[in-house]
Amino acid sequence: MVFAPDAMARESVAAGATRWSAATGCEVALGEEGVPVTALRHIYVLEDGRLRSLCGRSTWDEARTGVVGIEIALEDPACSGEYAATHELGHALARVQGHAYDGVMADGHSPLKGERITVQSLAFVCQGLRCVAHVPEDDLGDVPHP
Ligand SMILES: [Zn+2]
Repeated sequence: MVFAPDAMARESVAAGATRWSAATGCEVALGEEGVPVTALRHIYVLEDGRLRSLCGRSTWDEARTGVVGIEIALEDPACSGEYAATHELGHALARVQGHAYDGVMADGHSPLKGERITVQSLAFVCQGLRCVAHVPEDDLGDVPHP
């Protein structure tokens, strides 16, 4: 799958794409014809009358079978740009709604969310992606957090 980040999103998306490629064995690349990824400083949504910030957001097609656009927040204190990109790329790769039990694909509210592509996060993505490898990051030590 190909992603087309804008200039500000490029570094984060490249990092996420490299990690998903290594974990899944599938080609996750950057290119002009890919799913557009836009970097913003912050993403705010109004929820129950309160302003909440998001690390990232994916826009799905009408049939809810594919992601057609991604936004990531680069200056949210709760998350790094790389985390946001890796998480949202994971939604696009998985092509299914929902979240994993733990790791980078856990729900943003979950105490078990983390930076890594865990066994559970990888399994979530491989539901919809024909993974040719299964190499979670659980045993790789800490993923650098910028
Ligand atoms: Zn999510």
